[in-house]
Amino acid sequence: MFKLACGDVMPGCAATFENADRGALMSAVASHAAADHGITDLTPDVVAAVESKVVRVA
Ligand SMILES: [Zn+2]
Repeated sequence: MFKLACGDVMPGCAATFENADRGALMSAVASHAAADHGITDLTPDVVAAVESKVVRVA
């Protein structure tokens, strides 16, 4: 299971995500970023920042 706390990338955001599929997790995060943070342009820097915060849990 992969897990991401959006607050680790966007301070103050309480949203958390978890998914067994890392690609699906990133898709969910992308949707959330667009809907709640107005980030529709996922640049390589943004993707790298998010990826670095994804943790693998049992
Ligand atoms: Zn967020």
